Amino acid sequence: MKIAEIRTHLLEHKLDTAFESASMRFDKRVHLLVEVICEDGTTGWGEALGPAGPNAAAIAVYAGWLKGMNALETEKVWATLYNALRDQGQRGVTVTALSAIDIALWDIKGKALGQPVSVLLGGRWRDSVRAYATGSFKRDGVDRVSDNAEECAGHVKAGFHAVKIKIGFGVDEDLRVIEAVREAIGPETRLMIDANHGYDTIEAIRLGQSAAKYGIDWFEEPVVPEQLAAYRKLRESQPIPVAGGETWHTRWGFAETLASGCVDIAQPDLCGVGGFTEARRVADLCTLHGVRLVPHVWGTAVQIAAALQFMAAMVPNPVRVNPVEPIMEFDRTHNPFRQAVVTTPIEHEQGVVRIPDAPGLGIEIDRAALARFAPEAA
Ligand SMILES: [Mg+2]
Repeated sequence: MKIAEIRTHLLEHKLDTAFESASMRFDKRVHLLVEVICEDGTTGWGEALGPAGPNAAAIAVYAGWLKGMNALETEKVWATLYNALRDQGQRGVTVTALSAIDIALWDIKGKALGQPVSVLLGGRWRDSVRAYATGSFKRDGVDRVSDNAEECAGHVKAGFHAVKIKIGFGVDEDLRVIEAVREAIGPETRLMIDANHGYDTIEAIRLGQSAAKYGIDWFEEPVVPEQLAAYRKLRESQPIPVAGGETWHTRWGFAETLASGCVDIAQPDLCGVGGFTEARRVADLCTLHGVRLVPHVWGTAVQIAAALQFMAAMVPNPVRVNPVEPIMEFDRTHNPFRQAVVTTPIEHEQGVVRIPDAPGLGIEIDRAALARFAPEAA
């Protein structure tokens, strides 16, 4: 399975209504897919988390080493590419680009062997997962409190058992939003809060102490991801479980955070942490340290499919009759190409997502959609 060619596909859509997290403004949706083509015509697809242009540039650099390698030798390819840029590339775009390539290679491996990636990772423990709805960003020109409450009530009506809202815009306003959302979704729906590292430590502690009474499942990215001591302090100083990890890369990025007790819930992103090859190692680290793993997901159906294959293969921890099941992040913000890039959209039904069981990632790419959302077509 010699690799012959690597292509990147940039997707872009300008939004009518911009929205914001505490750390980023979105006035358009931009994502990057990678296509790895073997000499025999087998094609695999991957996606890179983060800035599309720099990811495409890094993938173009990796392509020089990648061509001619055996697509089935995922471990060897990973180590070769990582080592090629290791000295200046231990985290960031070099790893997100590598993640996209690794996912494409596992897609190829699955197609070559006629098996879904989940089986190649060790086996399918489940054929579906419950999803939680991610949304409730700050939107231009609307009142956050009523806007978020209304949106979350809609997610519950659509069948979701859990919702995650964006905070990090100021403790007092955020507390008003949390109170209104809890009121709107009722006492049974699980509620998570995500600050996108918008707080400093003092603010995060005050928010956590004050918000706990609303029954919060986890407090995500309270402070900037480099401040590991602040993460630890937050766990000691307020009662809500702390989550993080969507910007931590590779086993080395997670080793210290897990060993030193930064989080209760680790959130590696398949398209950022280093692909399937590296996400399995992070899962092992989580098991070692008794930390729950909930993958971060923010992308197209390619990324969703990768996360689903990984989640199918997550070993229940602990293995018991009625185990703690992983839940799937399901982005509900506006993105017209999210599902258009595949011929069969991966949608939820009453908050439950079926995990594809066709070979590889289990998806078929719609090339007409790639052309439709290419920047030059906009
Ligand atoms: Mg997040």
